Amino acid sequence: MKSWEEQGCALCRRQWETAERPDFVAENVPMHVELYRCSVCRTWWTMDERLAFEATDQEVVTYFGGDVLNDK
Ligand SMILES: [Zn+2]
Repeated sequence: MKSWEEQGCALCRRQWETAERPDFVAENVPMHVELYRCSVCRTWWTMDERLAFEATDQEVVTYFGGDVLNDK
């Protein structure tokens, strides 16, 4: 697993640290997971009830469906 400093870019990490958050994209209600994407580095982020993590395209498809990837 990547360390915090290896995930996203300085801007989106700062957005998480200040509770601003990157751009909201989608949510998976049954799983209580939300998907966000940085407008600068285009990193996908998922957030569960406690923590945000960088997400791979595969994880995004698994939790939110392939349609999300087409909406770039
Ligand atoms: Zn970023």
